Amino acid sequence: MAVALIVAAGRGERLGSERPKALVPLAGRPMVDWSVDALRAVAAVGQIVVALPFDHLDAAPAGTAAVAGGMVRSQSVREALAASGSADPVIVHDAARPLATAELFDRALGELTASGADAAIAAAPVTDTIKEVGPDGRTVSRTLDRGRLWAIQTPQVFRRAALEDALATASNDVLAQATDDAWLIERAGGQVVVVPSDPENIKVTTPVDLRIAEALLKR
Ligand code: C5P
Repeated sequence: MAVALIVAAGRGERLGSERPKALVPLAGRPMVDWSVDALRAVAAVGQIVVALPFDHLDAAPAGTAAVAGGMVRSQSVREALAASGSADPVIVHDAARPLATAELFDRALGELTASGADAAIAAAPVTDTIKEVGPDGRTVSRTLDRGRLWAIQTPQVFRRAALEDALATASNDVLAQATDDAWLIERAGGQVVVVPSDPENIKVTTPVDLRIAEALLKR
């Protein structure tokens, strides 16, 4: 059976709320509850572990296991993984993406099996043109080939051994640099495949994102 790790231990300062972002009310419920609901509808998921700020462990949704998160996101993943027994595969999901559907979790799990890769990660094709700027922070140095670019989301689904090894061998500095977990697999030489996902699976960062997520959930 699979285990799902929901990382919800961020303080969410950019949201300007007193409460941690994952616990901010969204369409009438704490944000993290939406992801828990979607995961409960996935037959392959036998256990859900939620990493929360150490002073909000009592906010874990019913039926989930709570662990205290770390200083940076990847440390929260490490803590949640350590509390998850030996279940394989491992789904990692940000509480900040409350619009992920059961269908997306299922498809990511299916792609991990079908591909034989170490990780399968939700991603949407990039629609903007992306340019890189030079050291002065404003002069364009190159334009990337948009046809090959994907905006990476969660869920990210891993073979347990690959995620454990990648987290065990990364220093705290590397963990602090990691903006997703798949990068840790990439740098260890593992294979990561994308799972096409909907751009509506947004990450809530700012108050505007919260309003957009609310509108999408109410629809
Ligand atoms: O801050 P950001 O939006 O990038 O965080 C992504 C996810 O990682 C959020 O769900 C947040 O709660 C979680 N996180 C965490 N532990 C941290 C920092 C972020 O669980 N120390």
